[in-house]
Amino acid sequence: MKLFEKIGKLGHEQVVFFSLGDANLKAIIAIHDTTLGPALGGCRMFPYKTEEAALADVLRLSRAMTYKAAATGLHLGGGKSVIIGDPKKDKSEALFRAFGKAVGSLGGRYITAEDVGTDVNDMEFIFSETDYVTGVDTSLGGSGNPSPYTAFGVLQGILASCVRSFGEPSVKNRTVALQGLGHVGGHLAGLLKKEGATVIGCDVDKERAEAIQDKHGVDDLVHPDEIFDVPCDIFAPCAMGLAINENTIDRLKCKVVAGGANNQLANDTLGIELEARGMTYAPDFVINAGGLINVYTELEGYNERRAMRLVRNIFYNVQKIYQLADKYNESSIEAARIMVEHRLKDISGLQSHFNRFPARAAIHRQNRTPASAPSRGGVEG
Ligand code: NAD
Repeated sequence: MKLFEKIGKLGHEQVVFFSLGDANLKAIIAIHDTTLGPALGGCRMFPYKTEEAALADVLRLSRAMTYKAAATGLHLGGGKSVIIGDPKKDKSEALFRAFGKAVGSLGGRYITAEDVGTDVNDMEFIFSETDYVTGVDTSLGGSGNPSPYTAFGVLQGILASCVRSFGEPSVKNRTVALQGLGHVGGHLAGLLKKEGATVIGCDVDKERAEAIQDKHGVDDLVHPDEIFDVPCDIFAPCAMGLAINENTIDRLKCKVVAGGANNQLANDTLGIELEARGMTYAPDFVINAGGLINVYTELEGYNERRAMRLVRNIFYNVQKIYQLADKYNESSIEAARIMVEHRLKDISGLQSHFNRFPARAAIHRQNRTPASAPSRGGVEG
């Protein structure tokens, strides 16, 4: 009963557990909502300490995908998957092909992609078992690594936030405290430097932080514990979730909180609190949709120009949220939620006239036949 209560509480449609001992696969796929289309969301590989922690993560993340797709205006539902394992030690061809079979067994109700701990090489193994995977390599008709698009979208959201807080869409001579210099944060550091910002970064992986500093000319690096205390204009969380919590909110010395991480707020009240303190908060599921937009265009037959045009729209989407918030005297997080819930309600009203299931993807990839997906000798990264 407790399990069903947990799943029902956030409104999930379907949660499936896969245990394939031969391949050492322990995975959970959570489909939150398919009102707007098939549930698309990445596959996270992480050495969760407990199965409960893995379940809690996939439930939270899949719900956020429903909000992200709906807020961005995409015809997609929300889903996510987790593989319990250490990406540094436990990856194998068998594991990802087994996961591909698991995804395929859902018949297109769930489409996977990269997330923390998985990469384009892993997607290729999945692709050899199912069409319901995005973020596959461009040589196979896919869209490749989504992180640069996510970072570009985050920059658009930061610029829109600058309009609200500083009156102009520019980060020139602004100081950005950037938490996490991984796939998204690393690219973002480069984009911010090109736009003339001062970037103070941090990463728990010191080597990675120094490599990004050398590559993009990051102005200074601080210890990860100190990033919240850096006096800055913009705080950009680009590491793991829950950066803004009861312990960190009082330490922030910025006017804008806008970054790429998922689930930045430990709870929604903190989003309201940020704005009550005079800060602009860019709701994470609106600003970090660039990667999702990029893989979404893969379903139509990938076209980078079209993807970039859609990602650029994040600027206007974030602005729209602020306009709604100001008009109705709401916080930005509330405004974004209201916008999403209206869209879901409107479309689910329409759907009651049709058979709601199955919400399947029609995938139009140019170079695709399952047999053409080459098998690699090993898994990189
Ligand atoms: P990543 O693993 O490449 O990068 C995360 C980085 O954060 C790593 O370098 C890690 O060492 C560092 N880190 C972890 N904890 C930290 C801490 N406490 N302080 C400082 N650094 C810390 O992952 P990514 O793909 O760059 O994703 C980053 C965030 O953005 C995640 O929350 C992810 O869910 C979200 N996101 C990513 C994408 C994408 O396209 N990759 C899309 C949407 C959202």
